[in-house]
Amino acid sequence: MNKITVIDPNQFVALTTQKNDPAPKTNLLGMSKTKLMEFFKNLDEKPFRATQVMKWIYQFGVTDFFEMTNLSKKLQEKLTNIACVIPPAVKYKEFSEDGTRKWVFEVAGGSLVETVLIPADDNKQFGRKTLCISSQVGCALDCSFCSTGKQGFERNLTESEIIGQLFVANQSYMEGVPAVKRENRVTNVVMMGMGEPLLNYEPVVASMSLMLDDFGFGLSKRRVTLSTSGVVPKMYDLAKDIDVALAISLHAPNDKLRNELVPINKKYPLAELIKAAKAYVYDENPRHKKHVTIEYVMLKDVNDSDEHAHQLAVLLQDLPSKINLIPFNPFAHAPYERSSNNRIHAFSGILNNAGFVCTIRQTRGDDIDAACGQLVGQVADKTRRAKNWQQKIAQNDRLKQS
Ligand code: SAH
Ligand code: SF4
Repeated sequence: MNKITVIDPNQFVALTTQKNDPAPKTNLLGMSKTKLMEFFKNLDEKPFRATQVMKWIYQFGVTDFFEMTNLSKKLQEKLTNIACVIPPAVKYKEFSEDGTRKWVFEVAGGSLVETVLIPADDNKQFGRKTLCISSQVGCALDCSFCSTGKQGFERNLTESEIIGQLFVANQSYMEGVPAVKRENRVTNVVMMGMGEPLLNYEPVVASMSLMLDDFGFGLSKRRVTLSTSGVVPKMYDLAKDIDVALAISLHAPNDKLRNELVPINKKYPLAELIKAAKAYVYDENPRHKKHVTIEYVMLKDVNDSDEHAHQLAVLLQDLPSKINLIPFNPFAHAPYERSSNNRIHAFSGILNNAGFVCTIRQTRGDDIDAACGQLVGQVADKTRRAKNWQQKIAQNDRLKQS
């Protein structure tokens, strides 16, 4: 497949400038509406400036205050001196002809995180585009089939690093378009990249609020999905704090097996997890959550027998849920294999017969699709990919120096 690869060093310049600046500027990207109002109040400006600036940033992808034409010249100058709008630096990006786009961001401290955009199969200009966002660098939970888990936990991402992934993805469609004619193209967000979103709770919820906000990205609440491996207490908080779609990474129908695959199960076993999921669906506030999505990775001869499917049907019988079977994506030294297609279909058949809506996630074979660590299924050999990126990045650095 042909790929267009662009390495964009411009944002590093912005970051470097900021680093050397004697009075560091406030990054407005990712700041909540309330905090932004406070920010303008402190400048003796009217609070509505906050929503004006939010629209420029999130709906038109504008980072230069002088392009925000409904602000006075004086305010534009003031903001330029004290504030900035800076997403995380794009270290590497890859746009494929089938519409899939992938970014590797270098976040403060030098760690790399990845974000992948996957269009609907028809790849129409204004069709569905799902962005898979990371919430942490690495992950502490160490699920046995997940390569992010194998990296260990490095740190939480900040609001601007989380929302910045969506900002950059939308901006990538705006090049050359005059500011007021720009439109966001990402229609769906899944918090299914690196990390466990509920273990970075406040920044993740604040970022999702900006995704839903009419002055932010204005996404529909059904099109923003948080995926969790089952951090039970935080699921109750989530139900109170924000209305988004919930996906649960279940992967096993009994505690014995789940303890092995998803170790956080030892802390929050299945009975507690299912109870929290029910509470999320039947929230006291009638917020019309209709179901949760159950994710179930298909591991050959581990969790894919008829017996497992029957157990799963019993476990989920009172929980309004849709089941999504994810063919396992192997990575270097992974101790598992992917279940055969026949096995996956037989498994899904049992669940369909038991009355469940059960889908099988498509995995497309090429590199870039594989790139969304978790959305398209975990990546084929993340270790190898990381090495490949490092080589490409080093090559680019050499080119810049010569
Ligand atoms: N930490 C969160 C969100 C990120 S993982 C969670 O676990 O839900 C996103 C999804 O990808 C999860 O369902 C996860 O179990 C799945 N996943 C991880 N590794 C995988 C692999 N090797 N193959 C297929 N799916 C995988
Ligand atoms: Fe973390 Fe999710 Fe991977 Fe488990 S599956 S290690 S929770 S990112």
